[in-house]
Amino acid sequence: MGPRKPRPYIGMFFKCCHVYVRIYLNKAGTAYVGHCPKCARKATVRVGPGGSDSRFWSAE
Ligand SMILES: [Zn+2]
Repeated sequence: MGPRKPRPYIGMFFKCCHVYVRIYLNKAGTAYVGHCPKCARKATVRVGPGGSDSRFWSAE
């Protein structure tokens, strides 16, 4: 186990169920991945060159 780092996250608004949650960076550091807490719809926001660094997103 290395030193603990704060895990990056972004805010994701799921329009399907009208809920707002945080989704966290995956282990590879390539995308933010999360699921709607109510219906389990998956949301993915890729990070990297050309990607937006917006911290707030919404999923249809
Ligand atoms: Zn939902």
